[in-house]
Amino acid sequence: MRTAVFSTKRYDRDSLTEANNDAQHSLHFLEPRLTIDSVKLAEEFPAVCCFVNDQLSAPVLHRLVEGGTRLIALRCAGFNNVDLHAAEELGLTVLRVPAYSPYAVAEHAVGMILTLNRKFHKAYIRVREGNFSLDGLLGFDLHGKVVGIVGTGKIGTVTAKILQGFGCTVLAHDLYPNEECIAAKIQYVSLDELYSRSDIVSLHCPLTPQTYHLINEAALSKMKHGAMLINTSRGPLIDALATISALKSRRLGYLGLDVYEEEADLFFEDLSECVIQDDIFLRLSSFPNVLITGHQAFFTSNALGAIGSITIGNITAFENGEPLVNQVHRQKAKA
Ligand code: NAD
Repeated sequence: MRTAVFSTKRYDRDSLTEANNDAQHSLHFLEPRLTIDSVKLAEEFPAVCCFVNDQLSAPVLHRLVEGGTRLIALRCAGFNNVDLHAAEELGLTVLRVPAYSPYAVAEHAVGMILTLNRKFHKAYIRVREGNFSLDGLLGFDLHGKVVGIVGTGKIGTVTAKILQGFGCTVLAHDLYPNEECIAAKIQYVSLDELYSRSDIVSLHCPLTPQTYHLINEAALSKMKHGAMLINTSRGPLIDALATISALKSRRLGYLGLDVYEEEADLFFEDLSECVIQDDIFLRLSSFPNVLITGHQAFFTSNALGAIGSITIGNITAFENGEPLVNQVHRQKAKA
């Protein structure tokens, strides 16, 4: 099937090309992000393949359909960037990769916790410069700490179990408690209780209208003084300005972000020669107790391989009229 692959990086090209060996879809790799300005590139492609920061708003979807597109094959799990209402009205099919490697994201979240705590990023630079002083590198034992997991789906559950392995007490909050977590003696509590009891809060719920700015001034004021907050889920779960105030007052002791509300203008590009205009991002990156990675949590060879093969399988299933097990339905977005 002729497919326009937007937001292509070298690693996307490699993994999708390898996964496409048998299916032999006609993949056209395009570097630009899909936006209203670039949508023309999709003309006469019955399928488009998109990633997390491609804009699948109603106007873009209308233009896609006018150009002959019938399938949106997301090569990611989240689908918050798709106007599902418009897609349904226009008869567009939306497929995604619901699970590829929950371990990749969970392990990255735990890596962020360890780095913020034990300051590996600072120690690495110090030792390379011959500075073996330990001043400023003091951490704490994870053993015995209370961790609150918001969203105990695939990634949240793996994160919770890894942290149990460190000897943490794990609390959780989810609209639908997970049997696997209950069996692992993870205690479900209200959000307020999770905030007030947790030393570390890690977000693993999707971005929905209900979770937009879940972490705002009110939520931060309920957290323990000096708590650590980790977000590997989606940027808009957090009100960045509220975290800046909380970091300045020291209420928030550590912040680890793999995602950022305005990341679409920054992440996945080399901007090292540019003057970054986003003052909120720059303020966040200036704190000594903030660690930011550029939407990298999914980025393991295992995950890329799985994303490639599931995406190609989705396109093949659509082309052959087979059951679409990975279809995104509008009502699911409300969950
Ligand atoms: P999942 O669907 O398996 O789990 C999400 C869980 O969140 C579900 O149990 C759901 O019931 C729960 N939930 C929904 N609304 C909630 C709410 N209001 N409050 C509390 N819980 C709520 O998804 P997953 O595979 O575990 O992925 C979680 C998120 O991680 C994705 O939505 C995506 O945004 C993000 N993600 C990020 C990366 C990355 O590279 N940083 C990679 C993959 C996924």
